[in-house]
Amino acid sequence: MIIYTKMNPRLKYVVRVQFPLRRELGRFRSKIEAVLADTRGWPVEFIRDDLDPDFSITLVEPGVVERACGLSNNLSCANMEDKWILINARRWFEGSEESKLELDDYRTYVINHEVGHVLRLGHPTHPPRPGEPCPVMVQQTLGTGHTLKNVWPLAEEAARIQVWTN
Ligand SMILES: [Zn+2]
Repeated sequence: MIIYTKMNPRLKYVVRVQFPLRRELGRFRSKIEAVLADTRGWPVEFIRDDLDPDFSITLVEPGVVERACGLSNNLSCANMEDKWILINARRWFEGSEESKLELDDYRTYVINHEVGHVLRLGHPTHPPRPGEPCPVMVQQTLGTGHTLKNVWPLAEEAARIQVWTN
């Protein structure tokens, strides 16, 4: 059964790293916890729950993203139905020059973007407007045009989320 909720939405999550990236687990988890707990983030109460999570965030090698999501191995991806997120280790460590974001900001962006997919948001259909903050659901990894730097959900994005649990 799917339960949609707008009132005090809550989601439980688990953070994982693929085996060869084991040493990164502590840092990866701390960053995700900080972003998900930040008041500038999605208006959802995120609770870490390793045993009974609603969704997972896993740091993986680029080839895994390609196989699991059928994407170029330069991107990260999320599966909205089964609610798992794969963060591309190459981007995690190197960021994206096209995004014009410093590495820590890029990491904030990619977490907010992929969690946005779990909250049922797609990519904007219109190109972002020059001179305005770049929506977090834009694929900033590929470029941000002449928008203003932004790595947090815009109010109009936060207003459209759908929180659901099985
Ligand atoms: Zn996306």
